Amino acid sequence: MSSNLASRLSLDHGGKILLAVMDGVGDIPIPEFDGLTPLEKAVTPNLDKLTATGVLGQHLPVGRGITPGSGPGHLSIFGYDPVEYLVGRGALAALGIGFELKHGDLAARINFCTLGDNGVILDRRAGRISTELCNELVAELKPIAIPGVEIFVEPVKEHRACVIFRGPGLSESIHDTDPGLVGEKPLPVTASSSSGSERAVHVVSEFISKASEILKDKTPANGLLLRGFALHEDFPTLTGLYKLKPAAVALYPMYRGVASLVGMEQFQSNPADLSGEIQAADDALNAGRDFVFLHHKYTDSSGEDGDHERKVAEIEKFDRAVPGLLQCGFDVICITGDHSTPCPMKLHSWHPVPVLIHGGPQRTGWSSRFTEKEAAAGALGTFHGHELMSLLLAAAGRLAKFGA
Ligand code: ZN
Repeated sequence: MSSNLASRLSLDHGGKILLAVMDGVGDIPIPEFDGLTPLEKAVTPNLDKLTATGVLGQHLPVGRGITPGSGPGHLSIFGYDPVEYLVGRGALAALGIGFELKHGDLAARINFCTLGDNGVILDRRAGRISTELCNELVAELKPIAIPGVEIFVEPVKEHRACVIFRGPGLSESIHDTDPGLVGEKPLPVTASSSSGSERAVHVVSEFISKASEILKDKTPANGLLLRGFALHEDFPTLTGLYKLKPAAVALYPMYRGVASLVGMEQFQSNPADLSGEIQAADDALNAGRDFVFLHHKYTDSSGEDGDHERKVAEIEKFDRAVPGLLQCGFDVICITGDHSTPCPMKLHSWHPVPVLIHGGPQRTGWSSRFTEKEAAAGALGTFHGHELMSLLLAAAGRLAKFGA
């Protein structure tokens, strides 16, 4: 696998790299723009200049026709094959709220539910209670203690929360307690493998019984269902794989979570906008970091809202930030997305994602604008997202020759 090879060849010195991600930046033709994409429609003098002196290509976050979530999309461009490095649902829920999982943590999703007098489920989502009520319920569950494990209960949104058990000997081989149907009772905690899950079954059962006692007189959320048990195992870090000292600048917990998963240190953005993010990227460089991931969320959220005008505005806003990023003094600057989020679809999609690399010896002069069309015809061609890292390391002079 190419990322293993890049890992073997990586050097502990060389240029400093910026990976700036416009989340969901790729798009498809917009009828209201006479068939132009938001990247084509946007006025981007700074990105144009960078393109003219850099190279374009496009990456496939997971594979042809495969639509990624933002978690796998980011893991891919961080140099991890997202099919090989799976993150469980419970772990993703915890990462999504910025919880820093440790090796061996057992995470699960909680749904608050409504139970009838006889204990059967009347509503699996407790009428989608407000996030405020979810916060209150979680606060009441937080003091639950079980000898030998640490327990963290965290609110997510509406009827959703998550729980993390930290202690030795836990296993993820546990069935969901959610039968997936109303009119049935929550299932007892049972093992899904023949051995090795006794400790986890005991701990989770204890937790549910104590939580049920606390919730039983509440309305409408008087019960809970646990799903998606996932044991968190350490990911190899970017330091371990590529000898980098990586930093992350991201405003949203989900992206900070994925970044911390691969060992990036967080640098705070103040104010919480692009100007603060540029300052934080500069701080990271000055603190000796040699790889900085910077995340711009709003290209994705405007795409998911189907708001093509806003997506253009977000691209132009990012363009205005480019001179500030250049001033930080990175040797290699990469601008890309974690996946495409076409406005007409209002969803993530499988379409390839434009990549711009500036810095290092490159076949420049092929492209003039950072767009889907030019990226597809760019000097870098089409490649897997997890191969981006070796291109960046090579551009920064951080890869040794393969063989004599
Ligand atoms: Zn995304």
